[in-house]
Order: sequence, then C-alpha cells, then structure tokens
Amino acid sequence: MPTSQPFSVLVAGGAYAGLSAALNLQDLCRGLPPRCGEQPAEGEHTPTPLLEVDITIVDERDGYYHLIGSPLALSSEKHAEKFWIKYDDIPGLRSPKIRVLHGSVKSVDPERKVATYLANGSLEPPTELRYDYFVAASGLRRAWPVVPQSLRRKQYLFETADHIQAATTARHGVVVVGGGAVGIEMAAELKLVHPNLNVTLVHSRDKLLSSEALPDDVKDRSLELLREAKVTVLMSHRLDRTEEIKDDTGKPCLKVHFTNGHTMLADQVSMAVSRSVPTTTYLPSDLLDEEGYVKVQASLAFPQDTPNSSSHFAAGDLVKWSGIKRCGAAMHMGYYAASNIYEYMLQCTGSKKEIKLLELAEIPPMIGLAVGKKAVAYWPEGGMTSGEDVMKSFFGDDLGFSICWNHMKLGEEPAA
Ligand SMILES: Cc1cc2nc3c(=O)[nH]c(=O)nc-3n(C[C@H](O)[C@H](O)[C@H](O)COP(=O)(O)OP(=O)(O)OC[C@H]3O[C@@H](n4cnc5c(N)ncnc54)[C@H](O)[C@@H]3O)c2cc1C
Repeated sequence: MPTSQPFSVLVAGGAYAGLSAALNLQDLCRGLPPRCGEQPAEGEHTPTPLLEVDITIVDERDGYYHLIGSPLALSSEKHAEKFWIKYDDIPGLRSPKIRVLHGSVKSVDPERKVATYLANGSLEPPTELRYDYFVAASGLRRAWPVVPQSLRRKQYLFETADHIQAATTARHGVVVVGGGAVGIEMAAELKLVHPNLNVTLVHSRDKLLSSEALPDDVKDRSLELLREAKVTVLMSHRLDRTEEIKDDTGKPCLKVHFTNGHTMLADQVSMAVSRSVPTTTYLPSDLLDEEGYVKVQASLAFPQDTPNSSSHFAAGDLVKWSGIKRCGAAMHMGYYAASNIYEYMLQCTGSKKEIKLLELAEIPPMIGLAVGKKAVAYWPEGGMTSGEDVMKSFFGDDLGFSICWNHMKLGEEPAA
C-alpha cells in the first residue's frame, strides 16, 4: 500500500471516463466538491481533507475528442473543428498536478503496479510508468467511418474534410448500412447538414435499433423521425455486395446489391454495422470477459482476487456492466472511480479508518438519440419522449458537445 504523498495516479484514456476520473479526483484532493457529483448548496460544502496527487493521463489522440459528435463531425467541417480540442488547449487541464502523454498504454502489471506506454510515433521500446492507482478508461475501438481514425488533430481535420467532400459531391447519394444508433445518427446528420443530398439508411431487420433492449415505440418513433428528416429508409434490406460501375454519364459510381434482389446506385456506402471491441489488450486476460470487457466490482475496482485490486479501477465503455454504452454513464463511472480512489487514499494516509465506497447500481436500457432536428429519448421512469425540445435538452445545438464540456468543466482553469 502506498503511504507517501504525492500519490501517483495513471489514467489510460483521456475522454469522458478518463477526464472525469482525473478531474473529479483532483477536486477531491483539493478539498472541493467533485464536479460530476451532486453539488452542495452555496456555503454547505464541508471541505474534504487535502491530499497531494500527481495524475498522468495517457491517450492515443493528441486531444479530447467528442466522440458522440462524430456523425456531425463527418458532415460539417465547422463542427469537426470544434469537436477535437488538443489537450494543451483545454483550460481545465492546466494544472501542475496533471500531465497528458500522447501515446498508448501497452501493458499493466497490477502486482508490481507498473504500466508500459509507447509514445506516439516513437521507435523506442515502451517506457515504464509506476503508479499507486490506475484507471482503465480507454473505451472501445471503433471502425471507420463510425469514428475518425486519426490520432492527431491536424490529420483528423483532413480525414473529416475528405469524407465530407466525397459525400457531398455525390450525385447518386450516400447509403448508410446499419440501423443501430450510430447509423441512424450518421444518416440523419448528413441529411440535416446537406439537405440536397440523397441519403438512404438500410437495415437488415424489420425494426431499427433491433439489437437494443428498448421498447418498440422507441424503435418505431426513430423510424418516423428519420422519414420526417427526409432520409430514405429501407427496412429488411441486407447488403449483399457493392459493384464499381459507370453511370449513364460515364462517371464511376457504386451499384449496391441487396440479398432480396433490389439494387440501387450510390457514390458512397458507409458501414455502420461493425462491432466495436474493447481496447483492453494491455490488461491481464483473467480480468476480462470473453469479449474483452473488464470485470469489475460495483465500486469499479478490479475483481477482488486481482493483486492490489483496490488500486485498480475501470470506467466507461470498456467496463462489463449493464445498460447501453453512453457517455453520461462513462462520466458518471469516472466520478465513482475518483471518489473511491480518494477514499482508499484517505485510508492509506490514516486519516480515515472506515471508508465509504460509491457502488454502481444496475443500469437499465436508456437512450437519447439525435435524429435530425429532433431527438427521441427513453428511460424507464420517463418513458419515451421525442421532439425538438428533447433535442435541445439532450444535445443542445452541438450534438452534446457543450453539455459534456460544461459538465466536466473543461473550460474552467483550476484556481491556483
Ligand atoms: C457515432 C457515435 C455516436 C454516439 N452517440 C451517443 C449519444 O448520442 N449519447 C451517448 O450517451 N453516447 C453516445 N455514444 C457512445 C459514447 O460515445 C460512449 O459511450 C463514450 O464515448 C464512452 O466514453 P469512454 O471515455 O469510455 O471511451 P471513449 O470516448 O472511447 O474514449 C477512450 C479514449 O481512450 C483512448 N485510448 C484507447 N486505447 C488507448 C490506449 N491503449 N492507451 C491510451 N489511450 C487509449 C482513445 O484515444 C480515447 O480518447 C456514441 C458513440 C458513437 C461511436
């Protein structure tokens, strides 16, 4: 057990879960109410004991990327610019106690409390990083064109601009394959930003969102909203193959074949069906389930039989937990991990004998889905709602960018 301060904390992944873990932990160690927790009424906060902490965040990207905004970043250059902020340009991270390394965590040895990391572009062998506490928050690996693949902002802007250019000069239109949440949002944003473009969403089943445990009225409403947004939707159409041909003007295009015999022309086919896989190859395999998700206790600590389990936490999409993967849940888990690490630190310094851990409850299926100008939302107590007001409250006018940015207070420089 670590006994001397400053405690060193290593966070793998600097997005919703990782930044939430780092910044909430910094708040607690500075005696402040954690930013993603319940906020006390003015003058009601009892400062938490001060602790010295050095936090290292490692991320493969050189900035915070608002992943939820991808369908808009891949439709609008203005939004692409806004949605990736280099870590150096984030006021909330300007603290001598937080450093961000651009690279990839390659291995973690819970017994020795040592991780290895490879700096982006480095040809040297991975470097060792020692830590007292570790948070795995590196999410899922997602394929193009669901998510841009660049690791640097500059390259990402080219990647998104090329995609937008190719989609919008399309004469025959764009076909998005896959009627899950990602495909629905991709098709709807493209049509919203480029109303003259033909956008078709094809789905192999007779209901959208068919792999989600959501009530049928949510699935039906999503279809209605897509059609209202003037997206052509082909249900029960399974993609067979695409063929490169020349159209009647002699220009190259794609002939899209479906297994039911239907064919159509398109200039671009975007696959929104690939399965995303956890980025957890750096963890010992006995911590992972068969798909690679991290098995955790309700406190988000690694399983009890892991060496130093109370020094190791996981948060966000890579956690094996109930519920649809959402960024709200990722930020919430980051906060829980921070709070529990802080409790263990207090125990370590001897300033608290009985610690109180936050424990995650089961998360029922819930969703907020942006479909053009409107959104559909569902959670068990509220039931289904939809409309422009739902869009405003769930996503604002920038597909949730400002909501997440403000929730994590990324725009606020820490007080000296
Ligand atoms: C197109 C799309 C639309 C979505 N829409 C919504 C929505 O409307 N509402 C909603 O709630 N959720 C939505 N989601 C889901 C949401 O984006 C995720 O739940 C959320 O991103 C999870 O956050 P995270 O921090 O766990 O992981 P991520 O956001 O994936 O962040 C993980 C970070 O870890 C980094 N990383 C990966 N591997 C390593 C490594 N080995 N070393 C160091 N760093 C690493 C990555 O670069 C990344 O920055 C959407 C997802 C997609 C793809």
